[in-house]
Amino acid sequence: MKSTLSGLRVFLVILGAFAMLRVFAPGGQAPVHGADNAAKTESGSASMVTVRVLDKEGKLTEPVKVARVELSDLEWQKRLQPEQFRILRAKGTERAFCGTLLDNKKHGYYLCAGCGLPLFHSGAKFNSGTGWPSFFQPVGKENIIEERDTSHGMVRVEIMCARCDGHLGHVFEDGPAPTGLRYCLNSESLTFVDDADAKSAGEEVPVQTAAATSESKFTPAEPKVVTRLPLPKDDTPLATETGEAKAVFAGGCFWCTEGVFDGIDGVKDVTSGYANGDPARANYEAVCEGDTGHAECVQITYDPSKVTYGRLMRIFMGTHNPTTMNAQGPDHGTQYRSAIFYTNEDQKKVAESYIQELSATSLFNGKKIVTAVEPLKGFYPAEDYHQDFVKLNPSYPYVRAHMPEKMKKREELLKE
Ligand SMILES: [Zn+2]
Repeated sequence: MKSTLSGLRVFLVILGAFAMLRVFAPGGQAPVHGADNAAKTESGSASMVTVRVLDKEGKLTEPVKVARVELSDLEWQKRLQPEQFRILRAKGTERAFCGTLLDNKKHGYYLCAGCGLPLFHSGAKFNSGTGWPSFFQPVGKENIIEERDTSHGMVRVEIMCARCDGHLGHVFEDGPAPTGLRYCLNSESLTFVDDADAKSAGEEVPVQTAAATSESKFTPAEPKVVTRLPLPKDDTPLATETGEAKAVFAGGCFWCTEGVFDGIDGVKDVTSGYANGDPARANYEAVCEGDTGHAECVQITYDPSKVTYGRLMRIFMGTHNPTTMNAQGPDHGTQYRSAIFYTNEDQKKVAESYIQELSATSLFNGKKIVTAVEPLKGFYPAEDYHQDFVKLNPSYPYVRAHMPEKMKKREELLKE
C-alpha cells in the first residue's frame, strides 16, 4: 500500500517524458496529489535502488542510484490497464502466443510497463518457440530481481523489475549462447521503444552523492539507533488470573503494527482493522480516501496475567513515530494518525500518564508527542488480505522497507 512519494516524483518525470510519445499508453494519469512530499523511510532516507536507466540522450547509463517506484494497489490500478495490473502487480501470466511483443522485430529497448525502467534490448531477443517474448540477457543484472517461485507445484525463478517490483516472468537455464539463459517475459509487462526514439524515454540521471555500488537488489533502510523507553510508572499490575483483554493501537500502516505485536508473549491474537470513523465506510478503499474518520489500527487480544497494558503500550510507543501528526513514514492522512483507543478507564489512565511521562523526557529528540488518546467507539476488522500481511508477504517492498527497523526496536524493548 502507501505510495513512496519520491518514487512518484521520479515517476512523474518519466511519465512526462513518456506522455509525449504515448509509450506509456496504459490509461494512466499522472498522480496529482502529494507529489512534492519526498518519501522517506523512517530512518530519513528515501528508498533507493541501483539500476541502469536511459539518459536524456537515450543511452543506457552505468548503474546509478534512483528512487524506487512504490505505489499502492489502488494507484497501480489507476495507472495500468487491467491486464497489465493482473500480470505486473498480481503475478499473472498471459496466454502463450497472444502477447503483442512476441513477434516484434524492431530494434530498441523493452521497458518495464509499470515504471519505464529499461529491462531488455532487441539485441538479446530470440525466438524460443515457447510463445512468450524471450531474451538471453537483460540490459543489466541490476535491473532485474530474481526470486525463487514455488507456485503451481514448480520451482522456478521469478523475475521482477528492480525499480517497481513489477512481475515480469521467469528465467530458465535452457537459453542460447552466450548466457545459456532464457528470460521468458509477458508482453503486457513491457513497453517497447525504438532505438531512434530511446531519447524520449530518457530520464534525468540523478547526480550521485556517493559512488553507485554494484548492489542489484533493494536495500532495506538501516535501522536507527534504538531509543530505550522507560517502563510506564502507572501501569496496571499483572492480573492474578488468566483472562482476555483488548488493546487497540493505531501507528500508521496496520500491516507493520500487526507484525510488531504478532508473537509477543501474552498476546493471543492481533487483528488489523479500522477504529472509530463512519461504520458504513469501514473498508480499505474508503478509508484510503482519508475522510472517513477511521484510523488504521490493530486490535490486540492479550492475557492480562501475562502482559500488562502498559508494557504493550511501551512497545507501541517505541516502534512507531508518535511525533508526526496524521502521518507515519511515507503514509499521510488522518487514517495514519498515531492514536490509542482505550476500552476502559484504566487503559485511559495508563495511556495518558505514560504519554505525559514520555513527554517530560527528550527521548523523541525533544519533539512533541501527538499520540491521541480516544475512546474506542468501533473496531472494524480489515479485509482478509490485510490480515497477517507481514507474515505472508515478507518480501513485499513496503514490508522490507519498514519492518526490519521496527523489529529491531521491538527486540530492544522486549529485553526488559
Ligand atoms: Zn518497473
